[in-house]
Amino acid sequence: MKGITLRLDHVSRTYRRGEEVVQALDDVSLTLYPGQLTLILGPSGGGKSSLLHVLGGMDRPTAGRIVAGNTEITGLSADKLAQWRRRTVGFVFQSFYLLPGQTAVDNAALPLLLDGAGRRSRREQAQAVLRQFGLEGRLQHTPAQLSGGQIQRVAIARALTNDPAIILADEPTGNLDTESGRDVTNLLARLAHEDGRTVVIVSHNEEFASLADRVVKIRDGHIAADSLETSPNLEGERSEPDHDARRGPRLTTLLSEAVRSLNRRRGRSLLTSLGVIIGVTSMVLLISIGAGLKAHVIRTILGNSSLTAITVSPNSMPTGISFTPQVTSGPAHPINGAAIARFRRIPHVKAAYGITSFLVSFTTAKGSTTAVVSMLPPSRLKDVQRPQLAAGSMVSARRPGLELPQSMVTALFSVSAKSSAKAIGRTVTVQIHSAMGAGGAITAAATRTVHLRLTGVLKNGFAQSGGYVSHATGQRWLQASTGSKASITYSNAEVYAATAQNVHTIAQAIRAKGYGAITTRSIIDQVGHGFAAVEAALGVVGGIALAVAGLMIGVVMSMAVLERRRDIGIWRAVGARRRDVFAQFLIEAVTMGLFGGAVGDLLGWGLGKAGALLMHQHGLFLVQPWLVLLGLVFGGGVAGIAGAIPANHAAQLSPVDALRNE
Ligand code: ADP
Ligand code: MG
Repeated sequence: MKGITLRLDHVSRTYRRGEEVVQALDDVSLTLYPGQLTLILGPSGGGKSSLLHVLGGMDRPTAGRIVAGNTEITGLSADKLAQWRRRTVGFVFQSFYLLPGQTAVDNAALPLLLDGAGRRSRREQAQAVLRQFGLEGRLQHTPAQLSGGQIQRVAIARALTNDPAIILADEPTGNLDTESGRDVTNLLARLAHEDGRTVVIVSHNEEFASLADRVVKIRDGHIAADSLETSPNLEGERSEPDHDARRGPRLTTLLSEAVRSLNRRRGRSLLTSLGVIIGVTSMVLLISIGAGLKAHVIRTILGNSSLTAITVSPNSMPTGISFTPQVTSGPAHPINGAAIARFRRIPHVKAAYGITSFLVSFTTAKGSTTAVVSMLPPSRLKDVQRPQLAAGSMVSARRPGLELPQSMVTALFSVSAKSSAKAIGRTVTVQIHSAMGAGGAITAAATRTVHLRLTGVLKNGFAQSGGYVSHATGQRWLQASTGSKASITYSNAEVYAATAQNVHTIAQAIRAKGYGAITTRSIIDQVGHGFAAVEAALGVVGGIALAVAGLMIGVVMSMAVLERRRDIGIWRAVGARRRDVFAQFLIEAVTMGLFGGAVGDLLGWGLGKAGALLMHQHGLFLVQPWLVLLGLVFGGGVAGIAGAIPANHAAQLSPVDALRNE
């Protein structure tokens, strides 16, 4: 015997409709037995459905107790009750309540899905039951492709796949013709007589009363008549099914169900993801362009300066660079031989030397230009950063001459950039106008003219706007204007730290002596600081796009919950817990978000690369790996947050309310 006894003890159910209180069940005490088909007969509005709902744990009575086998179901929590329902009860409804988009097999397999069975075993079990009911030719049909009688047989198959002790059918023949109705009633009678299940059918129609073992008449919430004369002998009543097992649907099942559900409404799902796609695309694009711009600005400002270099000026001045005119303060401290010797004595200083820039004119047979010429590091300092050459060789104490940037070489010698190397060895007439002196002033130098040979062509770059001469050449020029080597004062000094970690303390020591010290690090920090605002602004724009995307997902999910109320009711009737419904909707939202995030990442990356290529600016666009991850996390996260509210709303729906489909 597969059934169990169902006992109602003074059960009442009242409904509130505004001011009015409706007494649907009024102190009903009744025991239903396994192995019997009990027919509950009564007029419409008599309380039959209310009775069936409380019997099956779909609804709770307002008063009284219901005991099924050894379990008092009126004492179970919502999720425990759902589990009990899933393992113990099979519902059959007048309106069938199959999931419209799914095949007969998938519909019949729903209780197994909710019970955590794998896809293959679900299908095999469901097919076996459908075959017993003569539906072997209709396994892959959707409800729309089946007749009413066939649909109701699929619904009964669904009620049976979990092998329940109790079958509850609410007007199962109400929407069927007489012949199909008789078929279905016979089928239900067999479940009582052959399997010994507890079968209860509700009807307002006496048509099939002859097939029932017992008829209970109900009117105005009261039992009006009961045909039962003696209680049946209940030896061999089924032991309690294990409804306490915590099993629910597998995560992988929920995931694939989510994907299938989204796929069924493909157009709308894509449209919903579009919000996230746009949001993540703009976020990736904007942040990458921000990062690319920052890197570009730092690169062009710094040229190839070294991270270990410190530029010293005679006056203390703000650290780093600013985009407003520099204000120097404090007295000027001369940068002469003695000062440089002191810089060298600071711990961890690897090298220090003075430099000065000169305002000059270059003249060749082909043209002339005014420019700045600077002194290179002394040639004995081999490992100190020098400008990079595109062609030719470096000047040195032994090889005096001139290094000029490529752009200047092409102008002065009328050669193309590619053949700028041809100009190497030719002579440039250099007229020295002045040296940029200490304290930022320009001291008049004896204007004089020298001839220098071009030894090297420098790679073009922001920092390469002028030429270079060797340290020895520069010193000779300075000496010519000041008289002696000892009295030379440089405009700046370059100090090199042994490692980048020492830069800060060395710069502090130099500043303590009253000099100004600018480090590459401080420039990078300043630029980064300036860009923080730009990045934040770009991030806010991306964030707004994402927030709108979240709103869109929230709205669409709310619509989906409304639209799928009935499906939610079916899930709950078959034994889905609240958290299963919540998980299902949340996973759908997050899946759309992750999909949108992935596509947005790809689009953002692709558009950025394409744009940078079109504008011939490779570095303009910088996607970092973390940004791709952020796109996914944001997409999924925003969708999850936005989806949680409607998912929770879906989970809180009571099964009866959801099925009533208002
Ligand atoms: P039956 O299935 O016998 O037609 P029901 O159990 O559906 O009867 O309903 C019994 C009474 O309870 C009816 O008067 C009905 O209007 C009322 N009722 C049922 N469900 C609700 C509800 N959710 N809210 C208010 N009244 C309800
Ligand atoms: Mg009813």
